[in-house]
Amino acid sequence: AIDFKSILENKTAVAANLNNRNSNANLELVIELYERLSELQKEVEELRYERNTVANKMKGKVEPLERQKLIEEGKSLKERLLTLEEDLVKLTDALQREAQCIPNMTHPDVPIGGEDSSTIRKTVGAPHQLTFPIKDHVQLGKELDLFDFDAAAEVSGSKFYYLKNEAVLLEMGLINWTLSEVMKRGFTPLTTPEIARSLVVEKCGFQPRGDNTQVYSIEGTDQCLIGTAEIPVGGIHMDSILADSSLPLKYVAYSHCFRTEAGAAGAATRGLYRVHQFSKVEMFILCRPEESNAYHEELIEIEEDLFSKLGLHFKTLDMATGDLGAPAYRKYDIEAWMPGLGRYGEISSASNCTDYQSRRLGIRYRPESTNPATNTKKGKSRNLSPPEFVHTLNATACAVPRMIVCLLENYQQEDGSVVIPEPLRPFMGGIQVITAK
Ligand code: AMP
Repeated sequence: AIDFKSILENKTAVAANLNNRNSNANLELVIELYERLSELQKEVEELRYERNTVANKMKGKVEPLERQKLIEEGKSLKERLLTLEEDLVKLTDALQREAQCIPNMTHPDVPIGGEDSSTIRKTVGAPHQLTFPIKDHVQLGKELDLFDFDAAAEVSGSKFYYLKNEAVLLEMGLINWTLSEVMKRGFTPLTTPEIARSLVVEKCGFQPRGDNTQVYSIEGTDQCLIGTAEIPVGGIHMDSILADSSLPLKYVAYSHCFRTEAGAAGAATRGLYRVHQFSKVEMFILCRPEESNAYHEELIEIEEDLFSKLGLHFKTLDMATGDLGAPAYRKYDIEAWMPGLGRYGEISSASNCTDYQSRRLGIRYRPESTNPATNTKKGKSRNLSPPEFVHTLNATACAVPRMIVCLLENYQQEDGSVVIPEPLRPFMGGIQVITAK
């Protein structure tokens, strides 16, 4: 349920938003298709009415000649209706396809421009003082026997990896520690299907088709590998009306993520930084519209708390309009210092998608009336308000490979070992330091 009425009523603002977000959506075409569709719908309604009128006339007493005329008329109406109904389906499809490209509107405080225009909201910690020649995670992993990229390249292709030894425990430890931290804040833990229907993937704002798609489709099916748990979690409440009292719904989901990384050539690709398959713990909130800005702040605060507890040095960014992705109304990224890489690298992303996904997924709630006039005789408040779309938000709690890059590079010691940050130790069988075998 894309809000075409709002698009038409706010044409100037929508056009300015497309411009700010560097979007190639064709607003004029969407409006033209919408207007043509409305005309066609009217025409189809009128024809259906005429056809019913003819059919009703036939039910009564009719002269044979008149009956023949009515039969002819009914036949011609039916044929015309069939053609128009086919046009209706085609036009609806075309409109949906074009309208899919229109991104969400943007929070008024988001900086306008490309990636360089993003602003720093907060800086936490300082780079670890490493007073010896710094190694990157690939080198450290080699010396400590933590990865096998060569075998993975043979077995699966480039940008795959085996984790070995303590790196396996580090992955499990990161997942378990993160889940336990986020659950303390009242989030419901989930594991999810890792294959989803293309339709659901699309409704969440991802494009399963096209040359540059990030999504792996499964040949011969209408299914895809998920790029993030946001997709199956977003789909849980698809096509439903939630009780007001059930909101907010807060989930923390663990899943693998699969990405083609098409178009990522030239970007940092060494080692674990950009891979085709990785584990991630993702937070997801469904809430009342008026609360989504506050929950966005809560999500970024949780991320900052997690990364602070791991002793990382990072900055939080308010991402500029050109770097938001279609569903996001506002997005905060966190970039952590990666000494081996010699720069900050993105480790997490928190987006408020407002009603962009819920409209497409059909997730609504019925606001409870606070008006005493709607109370019944029994004194209980009766629910008369029409359903409204919820808002959805998603945020990375732990994207494992980038976290491993960060931890190895930041906690490397002069003797080549790597210290495990304290919070993770109980989740890794008490290991305090990774040393050469
Ligand atoms: P996104 O869902 O694109 O916002 O990504 C969430 C987080 O997952 C990012 O902040 C990265 O830490 C991590 N990530 C994204 N893509 C990859 C990839 N190809 N390989 C490893 N980590 C990734």
